Amino acid sequence: MELMSIIVPCYNEQETLEDYYREINRIREQLENMECSLEVILVDDGSKDATLDGMKKLAHENSWIRYLSFTRNFGKEAAIYAGLTHARGDWVGLMDVDLQDPPGLIPGMLSVLREKEYDCVATRRVDRKGEPVIRSFFARAFYKLMRHISDVEIVDGARDFRIMSRRYVESLLELKEYNRFSKGLFGWVGYKTKWLEYENIERTKGETKWSFFKLLMYSIDGIVAFSTAPVRFAAWLGLMFCLLAFTFILIIIGRTLMFGDPVAGWPSLVCIILLLAGIQLFCLGLLGEYLSKTYLEVKKRPIYLCKETNIEGKFDK
Ligand code: UDP
Ligand code: MG
Repeated sequence: MELMSIIVPCYNEQETLEDYYREINRIREQLENMECSLEVILVDDGSKDATLDGMKKLAHENSWIRYLSFTRNFGKEAAIYAGLTHARGDWVGLMDVDLQDPPGLIPGMLSVLREKEYDCVATRRVDRKGEPVIRSFFARAFYKLMRHISDVEIVDGARDFRIMSRRYVESLLELKEYNRFSKGLFGWVGYKTKWLEYENIERTKGETKWSFFKLLMYSIDGIVAFSTAPVRFAAWLGLMFCLLAFTFILIIIGRTLMFGDPVAGWPSLVCIILLLAGIQLFCLGLLGEYLSKTYLEVKKRPIYLCKETNIEGKFDK
C-alpha cells in the first residue's frame, strides 16, 4: 500500500480546522479504495487562537493525523518546509486548510502521478474572482515582471496546492536556503509538472492572512530570491546617467565658449541634484536588499523551531 502525506500549514485557523477534517476524511476513504493510505501533517505556525488545541484533539482521535507546532509565527514558507522534512509518504501533497484548495481533486491527481509521466501535479486558478481589483492588478504585474527578469518559471495564478513524488520532495529538501520562496523553488527543481486549472473558490470561514503590504513584501522577497536583474538594472542606470552627464558637460562648455557665462539656472541644478540623489539612494536600497538577504542567509539560523509535536523520531532540520 502506498502512503500519501498531506502538509497543511495553519495560522489562526480554529474556525476552519473542523470543516477541513470532515472533507479530508472523506477523501481518505476514497484513497484507501485506491490502495493509498493517507497521513495529514498539520503545521501550527504559532497560532494565537485555539488552533493547536483543535489539532491535538483531531490527532488524539485519528491515528493518521499528525501535528507540529512552532514556537512562534515563522510564516507559511517555514511551515511548508517543516512539513516536507517530516513527510514520509511516497506522494507528498500541500494544501491550505481553508478549503480554497478543493480536496476533491486529490484522487484524480494521484491517478495522474501514478502514470509516472509527471513528478508533480499542481493547480492554478484561472480567475481572481472575489479579490480586490488593485491586488489582482499588482499580482498580474508581478508575474509579468518575473517572467522577464528571472530564468525560473513562476506560473501566474499558481496555488501552493500540489502533490509531488518522493524524488521531487527530496530535491526540494536539498535547497536549504533560509529565504524560501516556494513558488520559485518548485520551478527551480525542474521535473515535469502537470497543471490543473480551476476557478477561484472564496474562503468560507476565517479571513485571509495576507494584507496587501504583506503580499508586496513577499513579492520583493521573490524577486530578490530569483533574480539579480535589479542590481544589473542599477548598474545600467548609473552608466546611462554618466553618459547623459558627459553630453551635458560638452554642451555647457560649448555654450560658455560661444555665449559667455550667464549665471542662471540654479533651479534646474537643484532638480538635477535631487533626481540624482534619489536615484543613488534607490540603487543603494536595491543593493541593501540583496545584502540583507545574504546576511540572513549566512547566519544559518534554523528555518523554524518546533515547540510540540506528536511525530516520533528525530528529524534532520
Ligand atoms: N498561513 C500560515 N502562516 C502564515 C499565514 C498563513 O501557515 O503566516 C496558512 C493559513 O493558515 C492557510 C494558508 O497558509 O492555511 C493560506 O493562507 P490564507 O488563506 O490566509 O491565504 P490566501 O488563500 O488568502 O492566499
Ligand atoms: Mg486561503
